[in-house]
Parts: sequence; C-alpha cells; structure tokens
Amino acid sequence: MAAAAGGSREERWTLAGATALVTGGSKGIGHAIVEELAGFGARVHTCARNAAELEECRRRWAEDGLVVTVSVCDVSVRTDRERLMDTVKATFGGKLDILVNNAGQCTFKNATECTSDDYARLMATNLESCYHLSQLAHPLLLASGSGGSVVHISSVAGFIGLPALTIYSMTKGAMNQLTRSLATEWARDGIRVNCVAPGGIKTDISRDETIDPELVKKEMALLPMGRIGEPEEVASMVAFLCMPAASYMSGQVICVDGGRTIA
Ligand code: NAP
Repeated sequence: MAAAAGGSREERWTLAGATALVTGGSKGIGHAIVEELAGFGARVHTCARNAAELEECRRRWAEDGLVVTVSVCDVSVRTDRERLMDTVKATFGGKLDILVNNAGQCTFKNATECTSDDYARLMATNLESCYHLSQLAHPLLLASGSGGSVVHISSVAGFIGLPALTIYSMTKGAMNQLTRSLATEWARDGIRVNCVAPGGIKTDISRDETIDPELVKKEMALLPMGRIGEPEEVASMVAFLCMPAASYMSGQVICVDGGRTIA
C-alpha cells in the first residue's frame, strides 16, 4: 500500500537520501533532470551512448559536489537495458527510489517517407525502452520500501496532431497510456507512475536542421507564452513528481508547454 503523506514541509520537499536512475542524462532535458534531482539530495545514476560526453558530465558534476555515477547504454538494445539495471542494482544496493525514462529520439519526416528502420528505431528507443526499463526496475522500486516513483518524459506530440512527427507522436501517445496502466497496476505496491509532456524545449532535438522553418513559425504563433522552454523548466516538474510532496499523484500526464495544448 502506498505511504500516506506526512512530515514537515522540509521532509515533503526534498529528495535527500533517495536513489535515482535517469536515462539520457548527458544532454538536454535529461542533463537538467540529473542536476535537479542530485541538487535536491538524490544519488543519481545516468546513461547515454556517447562515453566521452558522459565522462565529461561526470567529471563536472563531481567538481560541483553532485553525487552522480554513469554508464554507457543504448536504451534501444534489450541486453544493454538489462546490463544497465544490473549496474544500478549493484550501485544502489538492490534498491531504487526513482526511475526517469527520459532518453528519446525524434525524426522529422512525413509519414509516407519514413522507413521501417525509422519505425523500429523510434519504437525501440522511445517506447520499448520505457516499458522494459520500468519492468526491470519494478523489483528494485519495491525493495526501496519508500514508495517508488517512475516518471516518463513524453511530449505534447502525444496529445495533438503535428506534421512530420507521426511515428514520434505514436511513441509518445503510447507512453502516456503506459503511464496510466502502470500507475493502476502498481498503486498497491506503493509505486507512483507519472509522465511529463514537454512542448518545444531548447535542446539538440529542437535545433535539428531538418525541421521545416515554416512549421516552427506556425508553432510559435500558436504558443500562448510566445517562447520555447528551457530544460530546467521540465526538470523542476520531474523533481516535484518524485518528492513526498507529490505522494497523492499517480497516473498523470502533465504538459510543460508554455500553454501550447490549450491554444
Ligand atoms: P537531446 O538533447 O537530444 O538529449 C537526448 C539524451 O538522450 C542525450 O543524453 C543522448 O545521449 C541520450 N540518448 C539518445 N538516444 C539514446 C539511446 N538510444 N540510448 C541511450 N541514451 C540515448 O534530447 P532532449 O530534447 O533533451 O530530449 C529528451 C526527452 O525529451 C526525449 O524523450 C524527447 O522526446 C523529449 N522531448 C523533447 C522536446 C524538445 O523540444 N527538446 C519536446 C518534447 C519532448 P547519446 O546521444 O550519447 O546517446
């Protein structure tokens, strides 16, 4: 049974002593999430494919006094995911409080131009990894005994129709449903499952040169706040969802999108 909220304000708004796995932490939104969770006192493990970038991040985090370990993993590969969870298990003594499924990729192409490789890569990287890592993490989240928290990073593309993003949007829409299904199954285990759906955020994905500039202009015109978001603005929502302060929240998909989905 999930633990009820309690304690002082300081105890509710902290991650001190928690352990967390964040996928794709070497850049962009994942990088900001690692820093936010570690900044609130969590011990964090993160992964990416590029070993050199990951090591450079680890070095800078250590200089800043953040407790972060790293390992190389391609989340689209089943055996890599299994190896990652073995590493996490060994690093945190068989227990995990927080899993953030952030690593993801995008392809800006019309549906008629997408290849079977595009389909397989996006499904494996964005969706299958999210499901399988949650499955692998379940015994560790249970063992934490503290009421584990899973957060998926989906996208507003999982809610609204956007051109040139069909397969990407399919993966994100399915992640939103995965959130509700796992939240239902795991509530009695004391594990909360939520999802954050960002709009346009300033990272390598939004700087992709294959994005049609006309589409960007149209999108900006539809954006009530009139500006693209920063990775830290997503990370703060993720941190909140992982804290005891969010102890009665589960199965929710929360847009952090400058109002794009209400326009
Ligand atoms: P990003 O800047 O490109 O960073 C992606 C991170 O994930 C990098 O650390 C990358 O490192 C890692 N990664 C990519 N593929 C991986 C794989 N197969 N295995 C392991 N790690 C992998 O992207 P971002 O914009 O921060 O996106 C993060 C998440 O937010 C994604 O799920 C994305 O769909 C979602 N999102 C982004 C936006 C946006 O506008 N930026 C909007 C909505 C949703 P390596 O390349 O070294 O592996």
